Amino acid sequence: MAKGERVLLVEDEPAFVATLRFQLQREGYEVRVAPDGPSALAAFARVRPDLVLLDLILPGMGGMEVCRQIRQQSSVPIIMLTARTAVGDKVAGLEVGADDYITKPIQLPELLARIKAALRRAHLATDPTSTVLSVGNLRIDLGRHAVLVGDREVQLRAKEFSLLTFLARNAGQVVTREQIMRRVWGSEDVEDSRTVDVHIRWLREKIEEEPSKPRLLQTVRNVGYRLAG
Ligand code: CA
Repeated sequence: MAKGERVLLVEDEPAFVATLRFQLQREGYEVRVAPDGPSALAAFARVRPDLVLLDLILPGMGGMEVCRQIRQQSSVPIIMLTARTAVGDKVAGLEVGADDYITKPIQLPELLARIKAALRRAHLATDPTSTVLSVGNLRIDLGRHAVLVGDREVQLRAKEFSLLTFLARNAGQVVTREQIMRRVWGSEDVEDSRTVDVHIRWLREKIEEEPSKPRLLQTVRNVGYRLAG
């Protein structure tokens, strides 16, 4: 359940607005509506929303222009809503700074998932207390002890988190089991190094699409491991 995060819905079709507003409010969002481009910009300045849902086809000023103008002043997540499926529109939308696109007719579960993902990314990017390590599609938030694989948050045990962080700080380089034992477990005892292999296996089960064919967390035979850079 969202905790009063403010969504600015920029959309000119009353029936669609009514439905979407009801559904978003039921999910816990605070919803403000603007029916055209100029009022969207005014509402944006007034409300300072946490996220903008922006229709592409609007009276007065198109969604692309609204997006461009918001982007000049803010990094707020913007999800464009459009009836069009043309690739050119998507590319243009992303070029003017939209974070994501969703095509009408909108499936509510999909829209809610995209909204949550966009808000999570925004929180990770803007929280001044967090230090985020990014490797490929992995984001490790050191402040919150949170790990995202793409848009999916994974739960790691403390040692798994330390291990992943150590590998991420050395992304692209091979680290030996001995280095891992020393740095993550504080141990020189190399006989313990099977502990490392076990934790690597657990990590792969959480961060790899196919844990048996790891692409991120690679084994370097007879040496150790490497997190792909
Ligand atoms: Ca429209």
